[in-house]
Amino acid sequence: MEKKVHTTCPYCGVGCGVIATVTRKGAVSVKGDPEHPSNYGWLCSKGSALAETIDLDGRILHPEIDGRQASWDDALDLVADKFAAAIAEHGPGSVAFYVSGQLLTEDYYVANKLMKGFFGSANIDTNSRLCMSSSVAGHRRAFGADTVPGVYEDLELADLVILAGSNLAWCHPVLYQRLAAAKENRPGMKVVVIDPRRTMTADIADLHLAIRPDTDVALFAGLFSHLVSNDAVDQNYVAANTSGFAEAFAVAGCVSFGEVLERTGLPSMQLREFYRLFTTTEKVVTCYSQGVNQSSSGTDKVNAILNCHLATGRIGRPGTGPFSLTGQPNAMGGREVGGLANMLAAHMAIENAEDRDRVQRFWGSPAIAERPGLKAVDLFRAVADGRVKALWIMATNPVVSMPDADAVEAAIRACPFVVVSDILRQTDTARHAHVLLPSLGWGEKSGTVTNSERRISRQRAFLDPPGEAQADWWQLAEVARRMGFGRAFAYEGPADIFSEHAALSAFENAGTRDFDIGAYGGLTINAYNEIAPFQWPQPAGQVNSETRFFADGGFYHTDRKARFVAVKPRETDRTRPDYPFTLNTGRVRDQWHTMTRTGKSARLSSHIAEPFAELHPRDAMEIGVGNAELVEIRSQQGRAIVRALITERQARGSIFMPIHWNDQFAARARINTVVPATTDEFSGQPASKNVAISVRRFEVK
Ligand code: SF4
Repeated sequence: MEKKVHTTCPYCGVGCGVIATVTRKGAVSVKGDPEHPSNYGWLCSKGSALAETIDLDGRILHPEIDGRQASWDDALDLVADKFAAAIAEHGPGSVAFYVSGQLLTEDYYVANKLMKGFFGSANIDTNSRLCMSSSVAGHRRAFGADTVPGVYEDLELADLVILAGSNLAWCHPVLYQRLAAAKENRPGMKVVVIDPRRTMTADIADLHLAIRPDTDVALFAGLFSHLVSNDAVDQNYVAANTSGFAEAFAVAGCVSFGEVLERTGLPSMQLREFYRLFTTTEKVVTCYSQGVNQSSSGTDKVNAILNCHLATGRIGRPGTGPFSLTGQPNAMGGREVGGLANMLAAHMAIENAEDRDRVQRFWGSPAIAERPGLKAVDLFRAVADGRVKALWIMATNPVVSMPDADAVEAAIRACPFVVVSDILRQTDTARHAHVLLPSLGWGEKSGTVTNSERRISRQRAFLDPPGEAQADWWQLAEVARRMGFGRAFAYEGPADIFSEHAALSAFENAGTRDFDIGAYGGLTINAYNEIAPFQWPQPAGQVNSETRFFADGGFYHTDRKARFVAVKPRETDRTRPDYPFTLNTGRVRDQWHTMTRTGKSARLSSHIAEPFAELHPRDAMEIGVGNAELVEIRSQQGRAIVRALITERQARGSIFMPIHWNDQFAARARINTVVPATTDEFSGQPASKNVAISVRRFEVK
């Protein structure tokens, strides 16, 4: 009989509902779920091609030790022994997990619990560090907690939508379709795109501000100053719900219109028009994504945006608000369970002794981490210098995706003990594993994910696990059991884990901070299987409550007020005579991350078949390179060789390259070998949008 399963797309943070159909003969097809409130039936090219990416080609079907097939018992015993030995000999700081926004919330929860509550270390970080950690840091500074106030419907209700550092058309395609449809139906609605590149998203923009890289702080500090000078501040909202206005204005007020023009490189008419639109439009939503987050000033950029929304009280009401868009399907779920080195669980803080005590009692754990652990870049530095002796990497490919990728690969190769849990054998990272563990892929695993608008949806299995593949949470729980922590990890399935996670969010009012799904604690397996998509918070006893954050203040600092943060523009020009160009990295429409799954679809690969460097025609002329000829990109860090793509969408002096391809595709195709491991001081997020490089024509000898 044909089987139909309601599940969720595993790619971007939009979190679209998918109906997967499996025929009697085992053929799989997918279509958008018309009842899912994130996509109402729409799917983008990646989501539509999901059925083309689930074959078993290249799958890891059995555990392996040093490249040889092993039993689960032998592999898990070895992992438990090596982690226990490292902790006994060198302390809890000598072990680390590097996980992923591809993990389900249940996997994330168990990994975080084992590392922080039972190993006593907070050395668990995630590839979501590369995606949205500057937004997390900015939210915590302004709101007192990592709370995203926006919902997707706000984009349709706003009269002005600002997309800052977001190529929504390619990176959140279904949300873009919703916005484009809303704009079509409401002729007065305006869209402003802020991006150094003229991306496909700019095609629906009424105003495209092609600012110089990393000058967003100047742009929004200037806007803050403009709001004050034009009497556009909501004095009542500011007085009742915020603090720090005067201090923030003392800094932003010094940023003159002329300085903004000089720093951003914008024509004065465009800047005036942007400030006029923001000042005179009541319903404004500002979405921001990697162009804001992936910067050495990413957290300041976020706060510069939040300052403008707080000053005008445009937050927490339909059609208004700042809105951070997450890149990955479960970046938000990882935040909820504390799957980052500087978070605890249920949005509680490691630095807070009461929170630590509450979580430790709830878990019944022997040793809670007392301080934040190593964030992604520092984690791999600690692997490189020998401080980390045992490393477990789950569902991610840091040898391609981390900045300074050659150094990351060398660190992993030199690490005494590396475990990789993944679905594919031949990733650049899996090749270096001492122990390789076969995980479940999309369609085989079961659990929950949370999208950008705080909506928790089920991923449901509709395929049998191939070979001996097992869920990531099961692998972690089995290692925990072998290390003597079995009672705390005796889960029968993901429903048990989700119920425990929900109960912790409500435990002794832990969730009053901002996150409570206590209504979903103690679920039966049937109830868990039937969960329909819902947004948090859902406090115990209030299932299906609808909560808008911050309409009447209620922020999470102790005085319940939001904080303005004084941010001032910094020097952003990284170029120098030997590296006169700026490199900006990003994504293409039809590939996902390091292409381990989307690369399997011929249809998706036909959109853009190979890596490229996009450059302006006049730059190409000066370098002496023609379209599709090879160029060599060099930075202080490394080099890459790809084809030139000459286009006026690219600003002069800057080069765009996609992040997806690796050296298995072509020699020197890994762009992250060129990107240095520079990070934002508050979030630890790497900066990959403004790298000084040289470009020259490459001759094949
Ligand atoms: Fe999947 Fe994102 Fe496309 Fe939706 S928009 S189908 S979540 S990749």
